[in-house]
Amino acid sequence: MKSYDRLFIGGEWVSPASAATIDVINPTTEEVAGRVPDAVDADIDRAVACAREAFDAGPWPRMTPVERAAILTKVSDALKGELQPMAELISTEMGSPVSWGTMAQVLAPTMILDYYSGLASTFAFDEVHNGLMGEVLVAKEPVGVVAAISPWNVPLFIAAAKLAPALVAGCTVVFKPAPETPLDAFRLAELFEQAGLPKGVLSVVAAGREVGEHLVRHPGVDKVSFTGSTVAGKKIGAICGEQLKRFSLELGGKSAAILLDDVDLSQALPMLLPNAIMNNGEACIAQTRILAPRDRYQEVVDALVEAVSKMKVGDALDPSVEVGPLVAERQRDRVEGYIRVGQEEGAKVAVGGGRPAGLDKGWFVEPTVFVDVDNSMRIAQEEIFGPVLAVIPYDGGDDQAVAIANDSSYGLCGSVWTGDPERGLGVARAVRTGTYMLNSPIPIDFSTPFGGYKESGIGREFGPDGLELFLEKKSINLPAGFTPSV
Ligand code: NAD
Repeated sequence: MKSYDRLFIGGEWVSPASAATIDVINPTTEEVAGRVPDAVDADIDRAVACAREAFDAGPWPRMTPVERAAILTKVSDALKGELQPMAELISTEMGSPVSWGTMAQVLAPTMILDYYSGLASTFAFDEVHNGLMGEVLVAKEPVGVVAAISPWNVPLFIAAAKLAPALVAGCTVVFKPAPETPLDAFRLAELFEQAGLPKGVLSVVAAGREVGEHLVRHPGVDKVSFTGSTVAGKKIGAICGEQLKRFSLELGGKSAAILLDDVDLSQALPMLLPNAIMNNGEACIAQTRILAPRDRYQEVVDALVEAVSKMKVGDALDPSVEVGPLVAERQRDRVEGYIRVGQEEGAKVAVGGGRPAGLDKGWFVEPTVFVDVDNSMRIAQEEIFGPVLAVIPYDGGDDQAVAIANDSSYGLCGSVWTGDPERGLGVARAVRTGTYMLNSPIPIDFSTPFGGYKESGIGREFGPDGLELFLEKKSINLPAGFTPSV
Protein backbone atom coordinates (compact mmCIF):
# COMPACT_ATOMS: atom_id res chain seq x y z
CA MET A 1 0.00 0.00 0.00
CA LYS A 2 1.31 3.43 -1.00
CA SER A 3 0.78 6.04 1.71
CA TYR A 4 1.73 9.64 2.26
CA ASP A 5 1.24 11.47 5.55
CA ARG A 6 2.30 14.87 4.25
CA LEU A 7 1.13 17.30 1.60
CA PHE A 8 3.40 18.85 -1.03
CA ILE A 9 2.95 22.56 -0.35
CA GLY A 10 5.24 25.18 -1.85
CA GLY A 11 7.77 22.52 -2.82
CA GLU A 12 8.05 20.97 0.65
CA TRP A 13 6.42 17.97 2.28
CA VAL A 14 4.53 19.50 5.18
CA SER A 15 2.13 18.30 7.86
CA PRO A 16 -1.48 18.79 6.83
CA ALA A 17 -3.74 21.13 8.78
CA SER A 18 -6.16 18.34 9.64
CA ALA A 19 -5.96 14.63 10.44
CA ALA A 20 -8.48 13.74 7.73
CA THR A 21 -7.32 11.23 5.12
CA ILE A 22 -8.44 9.95 1.72
CA ASP A 23 -8.45 6.19 1.15
CA VAL A 24 -7.68 5.15 -2.42
CA ILE A 25 -9.65 2.00 -3.24
CA ASN A 26 -8.45 -0.42 -5.92
CA PRO A 27 -11.57 -0.92 -8.11
CA THR A 28 -10.50 -4.45 -9.09
CA THR A 29 -10.10 -5.76 -5.52
CA GLU A 30 -12.22 -3.22 -3.61
CA GLU A 31 -9.32 -3.03 -1.13
CA VAL A 32 -7.53 0.05 0.17
CA ALA A 33 -4.51 0.65 -2.08
CA GLY A 34 -3.26 3.91 -0.66
CA ARG A 35 -3.87 6.79 1.70
CA VAL A 36 -3.08 10.51 1.55
CA PRO A 37 -4.01 13.53 3.66
CA ASP A 38 -7.35 15.08 2.72
CA ALA A 39 -6.51 18.76 2.29
CA VAL A 40 -8.73 21.33 4.00
CA ASP A 41 -9.24 25.05 3.37
CA ALA A 42 -6.26 25.96 5.57
CA ASP A 43 -3.96 23.78 3.41
CA ILE A 44 -5.27 25.51 0.29
CA ASP A 45 -4.68 28.92 1.88
CA ARG A 46 -1.10 27.92 2.66
CA ALA A 47 -0.52 26.56 -0.86
CA VAL A 48 -1.93 29.70 -2.51
CA ALA A 49 0.20 31.92 -0.23
CA CYS A 50 3.33 30.00 -1.30
CA ALA A 51 2.37 30.23 -4.97
CA ARG A 52 1.60 33.95 -4.63
CA GLU A 53 4.95 34.66 -2.97
CA ALA A 54 6.82 32.58 -5.57
CA PHE A 55 5.06 34.38 -8.39
CA ASP A 56 5.31 37.91 -7.02
CA ALA A 57 8.87 37.75 -5.67
CA GLY A 58 10.48 34.43 -6.62
CA PRO A 59 12.87 33.55 -9.43
CA TRP A 60 10.49 31.34 -11.43
CA PRO A 61 8.59 33.92 -13.54
CA ARG A 62 11.87 35.79 -14.09
CA MET A 63 13.76 32.79 -15.46
CA THR A 64 13.74 32.26 -19.23
CA PRO A 65 11.20 29.82 -20.70
CA VAL A 66 14.08 27.58 -21.79
CA GLU A 67 15.44 27.47 -18.23
CA ARG A 68 12.00 26.53 -16.95
CA ALA A 69 11.59 23.91 -19.67
CA ALA A 70 14.74 22.12 -18.47
CA ILE A 71 12.77 21.10 -15.35
CA LEU A 72 9.99 19.61 -17.50
CA THR A 73 12.53 17.61 -19.49
CA LYS A 74 13.95 16.14 -16.30
CA VAL A 75 10.49 15.16 -15.08
CA SER A 76 9.65 13.63 -18.45
CA ASP A 77 12.89 11.61 -18.48
CA ALA A 78 12.20 10.37 -14.95
CA LEU A 79 8.68 9.31 -15.95
CA LYS A 80 10.03 7.45 -18.98
CA GLY A 81 12.13 5.45 -16.52
CA GLU A 82 9.02 4.31 -14.67
CA LEU A 83 6.39 3.87 -17.38
CA GLN A 84 5.25 0.46 -16.19
CA PRO A 85 5.12 1.11 -12.42
CA MET A 86 3.36 4.42 -12.99
CA ALA A 87 0.80 2.80 -15.32
CA GLU A 88 0.22 0.10 -12.70
CA LEU A 89 -0.21 2.72 -9.98
CA ILE A 90 -2.86 4.53 -12.05
CA SER A 91 -4.61 1.23 -12.89
CA THR A 92 -4.68 0.46 -9.18
CA GLU A 93 -6.21 3.85 -8.44
CA MET A 94 -8.93 3.94 -11.10
CA GLY A 95 -9.13 0.68 -13.06
CA SER A 96 -7.66 1.69 -16.41
CA PRO A 97 -6.40 -1.41 -18.27
CA VAL A 98 -2.63 -1.33 -17.90
CA SER A 99 -2.10 -2.33 -21.56
CA TRP A 100 -3.74 0.94 -22.62
CA GLY A 101 -2.49 2.89 -19.61
CA THR A 102 1.23 2.46 -20.24
CA MET A 103 0.83 4.37 -23.48
CA ALA A 104 -2.09 6.70 -22.78
CA GLN A 105 -1.76 7.30 -19.03
CA VAL A 106 2.05 7.63 -18.85
CA LEU A 107 3.85 7.78 -22.22
CA ALA A 108 1.39 10.40 -23.52
CA PRO A 109 2.07 12.71 -20.53
CA THR A 110 5.82 12.50 -21.28
CA MET A 111 5.04 13.52 -24.87
CA ILE A 112 3.09 16.51 -23.57
CA LEU A 113 5.95 17.52 -21.25
CA ASP A 114 8.44 17.13 -24.13
CA TYR A 115 6.25 19.10 -26.52
CA TYR A 116 6.05 22.09 -24.17
CA SER A 117 9.77 21.84 -23.33
CA GLY A 118 10.43 22.17 -27.05
CA LEU A 119 7.91 24.97 -27.54
CA ALA A 120 9.73 27.04 -24.89
CA SER A 121 12.55 27.73 -27.36
CA THR A 122 10.41 28.45 -30.45
CA PHE A 123 7.35 30.30 -29.10
CA ALA A 124 7.34 34.08 -29.64
CA PHE A 125 6.87 35.39 -26.09
CA ASP A 126 7.87 38.88 -27.35
CA GLU A 127 6.93 40.24 -30.77
CA VAL A 128 7.53 43.69 -32.23
CA HIS A 129 4.63 44.75 -34.47
CA ASN A 130 4.60 47.51 -37.04
CA GLY A 131 1.57 49.22 -35.54
CA LEU A 132 -0.64 51.84 -37.18
CA MET A 133 1.15 54.63 -35.30
CA GLY A 134 4.58 53.20 -34.62
CA GLU A 135 6.22 50.07 -33.33
CA VAL A 136 4.55 48.09 -30.55
CA LEU A 137 6.12 45.39 -28.45
CA VAL A 138 3.55 42.72 -27.64
CA ALA A 139 4.83 40.84 -24.60
CA LYS A 140 3.20 37.62 -23.46
CA GLU A 141 3.54 37.32 -19.70
CA PRO A 142 2.55 34.58 -17.24
CA VAL A 143 -1.03 34.96 -16.03
CA GLY A 144 -0.03 34.45 -12.38
CA VAL A 145 -1.08 31.90 -9.77
CA VAL A 146 -2.92 29.00 -11.39
CA ALA A 147 -5.41 26.64 -9.75
CA ALA A 148 -5.26 23.40 -11.76
CA ILE A 149 -8.11 20.98 -11.04
CA SER A 150 -8.28 17.54 -12.64
CA PRO A 151 -10.57 14.50 -12.82
CA TRP A 152 -9.66 10.88 -12.10
CA ASN A 153 -10.04 9.26 -15.53
CA VAL A 154 -6.71 10.24 -17.12
CA PRO A 155 -5.07 11.85 -14.10
CA LEU A 156 -1.43 12.16 -15.11
CA PHE A 157 -2.36 13.12 -18.66
CA ILE A 158 -4.47 16.04 -17.45
CA ALA A 159 -1.80 17.00 -14.92
CA ALA A 160 0.73 17.21 -17.76
CA ALA A 161 -1.72 19.10 -20.00
CA LYS A 162 -2.02 21.80 -17.33
CA LEU A 163 1.34 21.85 -15.52
CA ALA A 164 3.58 21.75 -18.61
CA PRO A 165 2.24 24.90 -20.32
CA ALA A 166 1.58 26.71 -17.02
CA LEU A 167 5.15 26.16 -15.85
CA VAL A 168 6.76 27.01 -19.21
CA ALA A 169 4.70 30.22 -19.17
CA GLY A 170 6.21 31.12 -15.78
CA CYS A 171 3.11 30.62 -13.65
CA THR A 172 3.07 29.09 -10.20
CA VAL A 173 0.53 26.34 -9.62
CA VAL A 174 -1.69 24.85 -6.94
CA PHE A 175 -2.71 21.49 -8.35
CA LYS A 176 -5.76 19.71 -6.93
CA PRO A 177 -6.05 16.16 -8.26
CA ALA A 178 -9.29 14.24 -7.84
CA PRO A 179 -9.64 12.38 -4.54
CA GLU A 180 -9.85 9.05 -6.41
CA THR A 181 -6.36 9.46 -7.93
CA PRO A 182 -4.00 11.34 -5.63
CA LEU A 183 -1.16 8.78 -5.64
CA ASP A 184 0.13 9.44 -9.16
CA ALA A 185 -0.09 13.18 -8.47
CA PHE A 186 1.98 12.82 -5.31
CA ARG A 187 4.55 10.78 -7.23
CA LEU A 188 4.63 13.54 -9.84
CA ALA A 189 5.29 16.04 -7.04
CA GLU A 190 8.29 13.94 -5.96
CA LEU A 191 9.61 13.98 -9.52
CA PHE A 192 9.29 17.78 -9.73
CA GLU A 193 11.08 18.09 -6.40
CA GLN A 194 13.90 15.82 -7.61
CA ALA A 195 14.11 17.81 -10.85
CA GLY A 196 14.96 20.94 -8.83
CA LEU A 197 11.77 22.97 -9.24
CA PRO A 198 12.25 26.11 -7.10
CA LYS A 199 10.35 26.28 -3.83
CA GLY A 200 6.86 27.73 -3.92
CA VAL A 201 6.23 27.03 -7.60
CA LEU A 202 4.10 23.89 -7.20
CA SER A 203 1.76 22.52 -4.56
CA VAL A 204 -0.19 19.27 -4.85
CA VAL A 205 -3.20 19.07 -2.55
CA ALA A 206 -5.73 16.28 -2.95
CA ALA A 207 -9.25 17.11 -1.81
CA GLY A 208 -12.90 16.91 -2.76
CA ARG A 209 -15.27 19.41 -4.36
CA GLU A 210 -15.88 21.79 -1.49
CA VAL A 211 -12.20 22.37 -0.86
CA GLY A 212 -11.75 22.59 -4.63
CA GLU A 213 -14.32 25.35 -4.69
CA HIS A 214 -12.44 27.18 -1.93
CA LEU A 215 -9.39 27.06 -4.22
CA VAL A 216 -11.41 28.39 -7.18
CA ARG A 217 -12.79 31.30 -5.10
CA HIS A 218 -9.45 32.13 -3.49
CA PRO A 219 -8.54 35.79 -4.15
CA GLY A 220 -4.89 34.81 -4.49
CA VAL A 221 -5.64 32.72 -7.59
CA ASP A 222 -5.44 34.48 -10.97
CA LYS A 223 -6.52 31.68 -13.28
CA VAL A 224 -8.47 28.43 -12.98
CA SER A 225 -7.70 25.60 -15.36
CA PHE A 226 -10.40 22.98 -14.89
CA THR A 227 -11.06 19.58 -16.42
CA GLY A 228 -14.08 17.60 -15.26
CA SER A 229 -17.82 17.33 -15.62
CA THR A 230 -19.97 19.94 -17.34
CA VAL A 231 -22.00 20.38 -14.13
CA ALA A 232 -18.91 21.34 -12.13
CA GLY A 233 -17.54 23.39 -15.04
CA LYS A 234 -20.67 25.56 -15.14
CA LYS A 235 -20.35 26.26 -11.43
CA ILE A 236 -16.66 27.06 -11.66
CA GLY A 237 -17.22 29.26 -14.72
CA ALA A 238 -19.92 31.17 -12.82
CA ILE A 239 -17.62 31.81 -9.85
CA CYS A 240 -14.78 32.92 -12.11
CA GLY A 241 -17.14 35.14 -14.08
CA GLU A 242 -18.30 36.85 -10.91
CA GLN A 243 -14.69 37.47 -9.89
CA LEU A 244 -13.47 38.23 -13.43
CA LYS A 245 -10.87 35.54 -12.94
CA ARG A 246 -9.38 33.91 -16.03
CA PHE A 247 -10.58 30.38 -16.60
CA SER A 248 -10.54 27.54 -19.11
CA LEU A 249 -12.80 24.51 -19.02
CA GLU A 250 -12.38 21.03 -20.51
CA LEU A 251 -15.69 19.25 -19.90
CA GLY A 252 -17.82 16.28 -20.90
CA GLY A 253 -18.69 14.79 -24.26
CA LYS A 254 -21.06 12.53 -26.15
CA SER A 255 -19.17 12.14 -29.38
CA ALA A 256 -20.65 10.64 -32.53
CA ALA A 257 -18.82 8.29 -34.88
CA ILE A 258 -20.42 8.59 -38.32
CA LEU A 259 -20.17 5.56 -40.59
CA LEU A 260 -20.89 6.67 -44.18
CA ASP A 261 -22.60 4.28 -46.59
CA ASP A 262 -19.32 3.48 -48.38
CA VAL A 263 -17.42 2.52 -45.21
CA ASP A 264 -15.23 -0.57 -45.15
CA LEU A 265 -16.13 -1.93 -41.70
CA SER A 266 -13.18 -4.32 -41.60
CA GLN A 267 -10.87 -1.29 -41.72
CA ALA A 268 -12.94 1.18 -39.69
CA LEU A 269 -14.05 -0.87 -36.68
CA PRO A 270 -10.56 -1.86 -35.44
CA MET A 271 -9.73 1.87 -35.33
CA LEU A 272 -13.10 3.01 -34.05
CA LEU A 273 -13.76 0.49 -31.28
CA PRO A 274 -10.72 1.34 -29.11
CA ASN A 275 -11.89 4.96 -29.29
CA ALA A 276 -15.49 4.04 -28.45
CA ILE A 277 -14.78 1.90 -25.39
CA MET A 278 -11.63 3.73 -24.41
CA ASN A 279 -10.43 3.55 -20.80
CA ASN A 280 -13.48 1.41 -19.84
CA GLY A 281 -15.65 4.04 -21.51
CA GLU A 282 -14.47 6.57 -18.94
CA ALA A 283 -13.13 9.01 -21.52
CA CYS A 284 -14.44 12.46 -22.41
CA ILE A 285 -13.63 11.83 -26.09
CA ALA A 286 -15.18 8.33 -26.26
CA GLN A 287 -17.14 7.81 -29.50
CA THR A 288 -20.24 6.53 -27.70
CA ARG A 289 -22.83 7.26 -30.38
CA ILE A 290 -22.30 5.15 -33.51
CA LEU A 291 -24.33 6.50 -36.45
CA ALA A 292 -24.99 3.93 -39.19
CA PRO A 293 -26.88 4.29 -42.51
CA ARG A 294 -30.21 2.45 -42.28
CA ASP A 295 -29.44 0.10 -45.16
CA ARG A 296 -26.21 -1.05 -43.52
CA TYR A 297 -27.50 -0.88 -39.95
CA GLN A 298 -27.75 -4.63 -39.30
CA GLU A 299 -24.31 -5.25 -40.78
CA VAL A 300 -22.82 -2.58 -38.47
CA VAL A 301 -24.62 -3.97 -35.42
CA ASP A 302 -23.48 -7.54 -36.19
CA ALA A 303 -19.85 -6.46 -36.61
CA LEU A 304 -19.92 -4.36 -33.43
CA VAL A 305 -21.59 -7.10 -31.39
CA GLU A 306 -19.03 -9.63 -32.58
CA ALA A 307 -16.09 -7.33 -31.73
CA VAL A 308 -17.47 -6.16 -28.36
CA SER A 309 -18.37 -9.66 -27.19
CA LYS A 310 -14.72 -10.66 -27.70
CA MET A 311 -13.36 -7.88 -25.47
CA LYS A 312 -11.62 -9.28 -22.43
CA VAL A 313 -12.90 -7.86 -19.14
CA GLY A 314 -10.97 -8.31 -15.91
CA ASP A 315 -8.20 -7.20 -13.57
CA ALA A 316 -6.85 -3.86 -14.78
CA LEU A 317 -3.31 -5.06 -14.07
CA ASP A 318 -3.61 -8.07 -16.41
CA PRO A 319 -1.88 -7.00 -19.65
CA SER A 320 -4.32 -9.01 -21.78
CA VAL A 321 -7.39 -7.23 -20.35
CA GLU A 322 -9.13 -4.64 -22.56
CA VAL A 323 -11.85 -3.47 -20.16
CA GLY A 324 -11.18 -3.04 -16.44
CA PRO A 325 -13.49 -2.12 -13.56
CA LEU A 326 -15.16 1.28 -13.25
CA VAL A 327 -13.57 3.74 -10.88
CA ALA A 328 -15.99 3.35 -7.99
CA GLU A 329 -19.14 1.60 -6.86
CA ARG A 330 -21.11 4.82 -7.41
CA GLN A 331 -19.86 4.90 -11.03
CA ARG A 332 -21.04 1.34 -11.60
CA ASP A 333 -24.41 2.28 -10.09
CA ARG A 334 -24.58 5.23 -12.48
CA VAL A 335 -23.74 3.11 -15.54
CA GLU A 336 -26.17 0.36 -14.55
CA GLY A 337 -28.80 3.05 -13.99
CA TYR A 338 -28.31 4.24 -17.59
CA ILE A 339 -28.56 0.65 -18.88
CA ARG A 340 -31.97 0.43 -17.17
CA VAL A 341 -32.98 3.83 -18.54
CA GLY A 342 -32.07 2.76 -22.09
CA GLN A 343 -34.26 -0.32 -21.83
CA GLU A 344 -37.14 1.70 -20.36
CA GLU A 345 -36.81 4.13 -23.28
CA GLY A 346 -37.23 1.27 -25.76
CA ALA A 347 -33.66 0.61 -26.86
CA LYS A 348 -32.46 -3.01 -26.93
CA VAL A 349 -29.30 -4.46 -25.47
CA ALA A 350 -27.56 -6.36 -28.30
CA VAL A 351 -24.63 -7.47 -26.16
CA GLY A 352 -23.66 -6.98 -22.50
CA GLY A 353 -25.95 -5.13 -20.15
CA GLY A 354 -24.98 -6.94 -16.97
CA ARG A 355 -22.03 -7.77 -14.77
CA PRO A 356 -19.40 -10.14 -16.21
CA ALA A 357 -19.62 -13.73 -14.99
CA GLY A 358 -16.92 -14.91 -12.63
CA LEU A 359 -15.87 -11.47 -11.41
CA ASP A 360 -17.42 -11.33 -7.95
CA LYS A 361 -15.15 -8.58 -6.65
CA GLY A 362 -14.58 -5.29 -8.40
CA TRP A 363 -16.85 -2.72 -10.01
CA PHE A 364 -17.19 -4.35 -13.41
CA VAL A 365 -19.85 -3.80 -16.05
CA GLU A 366 -19.98 -5.76 -19.29
CA PRO A 367 -19.20 -3.76 -22.43
CA THR A 368 -22.68 -3.05 -23.74
CA VAL A 369 -24.11 -2.20 -27.15
CA PHE A 370 -27.58 -0.67 -27.41
CA VAL A 371 -29.45 -0.93 -30.73
CA ASP A 372 -32.67 0.70 -31.96
CA VAL A 373 -31.57 3.89 -30.30
CA ASP A 374 -33.17 7.21 -31.14
CA ASN A 375 -30.92 10.22 -30.66
CA SER A 376 -33.49 11.88 -28.40
CA MET A 377 -33.13 9.12 -25.78
CA ARG A 378 -31.21 9.90 -22.60
CA ILE A 379 -28.65 7.20 -23.40
CA ALA A 380 -27.85 9.14 -26.59
CA GLN A 381 -27.89 12.60 -25.03
CA GLU A 382 -26.22 12.17 -21.63
CA GLU A 383 -22.64 11.26 -20.83
CA ILE A 384 -22.76 7.77 -19.28
CA PHE A 385 -19.00 7.46 -18.66
CA GLY A 386 -18.90 3.68 -18.93
CA PRO A 387 -18.53 1.00 -21.63
CA VAL A 388 -21.95 1.59 -23.18
CA LEU A 389 -22.47 2.32 -26.89
CA ALA A 390 -25.63 3.49 -28.66
CA VAL A 391 -25.99 2.51 -32.34
CA ILE A 392 -28.29 4.99 -34.07
CA PRO A 393 -29.66 4.50 -37.61
CA TYR A 394 -29.94 7.41 -40.05
CA ASP A 395 -31.78 7.87 -43.35
CA GLY A 396 -31.33 10.60 -45.90
CA GLY A 397 -27.58 10.67 -46.44
CA ASP A 398 -24.65 12.51 -44.93
CA ASP A 399 -26.64 15.63 -44.00
CA GLN A 400 -28.94 13.60 -41.78
CA ALA A 401 -25.97 11.96 -40.06
CA VAL A 402 -24.43 15.38 -39.44
CA ALA A 403 -27.74 16.68 -38.07
CA ILE A 404 -27.92 13.79 -35.59
CA ALA A 405 -24.26 14.25 -34.58
CA ASN A 406 -24.95 17.94 -33.97
CA ASP A 407 -28.14 17.26 -32.02
CA SER A 408 -26.22 17.24 -28.75
CA SER A 409 -25.42 19.74 -26.04
CA TYR A 410 -21.80 18.56 -26.25
CA GLY A 411 -19.16 19.09 -28.93
CA LEU A 412 -15.86 17.61 -27.86
CA CYS A 413 -14.80 14.99 -30.39
CA GLY A 414 -16.20 12.87 -33.23
CA SER A 415 -15.21 10.79 -36.20
CA VAL A 416 -16.22 9.91 -39.73
CA TRP A 417 -15.44 6.65 -41.55
CA THR A 418 -15.65 6.49 -45.32
CA GLY A 419 -13.98 5.25 -48.49
CA ASP A 420 -13.84 8.85 -49.75
CA PRO A 421 -11.72 11.20 -47.58
CA GLU A 422 -12.94 14.29 -49.52
CA ARG A 423 -16.54 13.44 -48.61
CA GLY A 424 -15.42 12.68 -45.06
CA LEU A 425 -13.78 16.09 -44.81
CA GLY A 426 -17.10 17.71 -45.71
CA VAL A 427 -18.71 15.85 -42.82
CA ALA A 428 -15.83 16.74 -40.47
CA ARG A 429 -16.27 20.44 -41.27
CA ALA A 430 -20.04 20.28 -40.69
CA VAL A 431 -19.95 18.68 -37.24
CA ARG A 432 -19.77 21.28 -34.45
CA THR A 433 -17.06 19.80 -32.33
CA GLY A 434 -13.52 20.73 -31.28
CA THR A 435 -11.62 17.63 -32.40
CA TYR A 436 -12.32 15.23 -35.21
CA MET A 437 -11.02 11.96 -36.61
CA LEU A 438 -11.28 11.36 -40.37
CA ASN A 439 -10.53 7.65 -40.93
CA SER A 440 -7.93 8.13 -38.22
CA PRO A 441 -7.37 6.27 -34.95
CA ILE A 442 -5.83 9.39 -33.36
CA PRO A 443 -8.22 11.62 -31.39
CA ILE A 444 -5.69 14.15 -30.04
CA ASP A 445 -2.38 15.42 -31.40
CA PHE A 446 -0.64 17.29 -28.58
CA SER A 447 0.78 19.91 -30.92
CA THR A 448 -2.66 21.12 -32.07
CA PRO A 449 -5.64 22.66 -30.26
CA PHE A 450 -7.98 20.40 -28.30
CA GLY A 451 -11.19 21.44 -26.57
CA GLY A 452 -14.91 21.70 -26.72
CA TYR A 453 -17.66 23.47 -28.61
CA LYS A 454 -20.91 24.08 -26.74
CA GLU A 455 -21.15 22.52 -23.26
CA SER A 456 -17.88 20.61 -23.74
CA GLY A 457 -15.82 23.55 -22.63
CA ILE A 458 -14.22 26.92 -23.14
CA GLY A 459 -10.67 27.36 -24.40
CA ARG A 460 -8.22 25.07 -26.16
CA GLU A 461 -5.49 23.00 -24.53
CA PHE A 462 -2.43 21.58 -26.33
CA GLY A 463 -0.33 23.16 -29.02
CA PRO A 464 0.57 26.86 -28.72
CA ASP A 465 -3.08 27.55 -27.74
CA GLY A 466 -2.50 25.51 -24.58
CA LEU A 467 0.40 27.79 -23.65
CA GLU A 468 -1.63 30.94 -24.44
CA LEU A 469 -4.14 29.83 -21.79
CA PHE A 470 -1.50 30.73 -19.20
CA LEU A 471 -0.36 34.04 -20.72
CA GLU A 472 -1.56 37.63 -20.59
CA LYS A 473 -0.73 39.96 -23.49
CA LYS A 474 0.73 43.39 -22.90
CA SER A 475 1.16 45.97 -25.68
CA ILE A 476 4.03 48.42 -25.12
CA ASN A 477 4.05 51.35 -27.54
CA LEU A 478 7.68 52.12 -28.38
CA PRO A 479 9.35 55.46 -29.07
CA ALA A 480 10.59 56.12 -32.62
CA GLY A 481 14.11 54.87 -33.20
CA PHE A 482 14.15 52.38 -30.32
CA THR A 483 14.40 48.69 -31.13
CA PRO A 484 14.16 46.40 -28.09
CA SER A 485 16.16 43.20 -27.99
CA VAL A 486 13.63 40.37 -28.06
P1 NAD B 1 -15.98 16.16 -11.59
O1 NAD B 1 -16.43 17.40 -12.27
O2 NAD B 1 -16.88 15.54 -10.60
O3 NAD B 1 -14.60 16.44 -10.83
C1 NAD B 1 -13.43 16.88 -11.51
C2 NAD B 1 -12.53 17.57 -10.52
O4 NAD B 1 -13.14 18.78 -10.08
C3 NAD B 1 -12.24 16.78 -9.24
O5 NAD B 1 -10.93 17.07 -8.83
C4 NAD B 1 -13.28 17.35 -8.26
O6 NAD B 1 -12.88 17.18 -6.92
C5 NAD B 1 -13.29 18.80 -8.67
N1 NAD B 1 -14.53 19.53 -8.45
C6 NAD B 1 -15.81 19.10 -8.62
N2 NAD B 1 -16.67 20.09 -8.36
C7 NAD B 1 -15.92 21.18 -8.06
C8 NAD B 1 -16.24 22.53 -7.72
N3 NAD B 1 -17.51 22.96 -7.63
N4 NAD B 1 -15.22 23.39 -7.47
C9 NAD B 1 -13.94 22.97 -7.57
N5 NAD B 1 -13.58 21.71 -7.87
C10 NAD B 1 -14.57 20.83 -8.12
O7 NAD B 1 -15.58 15.14 -12.75
P2 NAD B 1 -15.02 13.64 -12.62
O8 NAD B 1 -16.14 12.72 -12.33
O9 NAD B 1 -13.83 13.61 -11.73
O10 NAD B 1 -14.49 13.41 -14.12
C11 NAD B 1 -15.28 12.98 -15.17
C12 NAD B 1 -15.67 14.15 -16.05
O11 NAD B 1 -14.51 14.80 -16.56
C13 NAD B 1 -16.45 13.69 -17.27
O12 NAD B 1 -17.54 14.55 -17.48
C14 NAD B 1 -15.43 13.82 -18.40
O13 NAD B 1 -16.01 13.97 -19.67
C15 NAD B 1 -14.66 15.01 -17.96
N6 NAD B 1 -13.35 15.05 -18.64
C16 NAD B 1 -13.14 15.99 -19.61
C17 NAD B 1 -11.92 16.02 -20.30
C18 NAD B 1 -11.66 17.04 -21.38
O14 NAD B 1 -10.50 17.23 -21.74
N7 NAD B 1 -12.67 17.70 -21.93
C19 NAD B 1 -10.92 15.11 -19.97
C20 NAD B 1 -11.17 14.18 -18.97
C21 NAD B 1 -12.38 14.16 -18.30
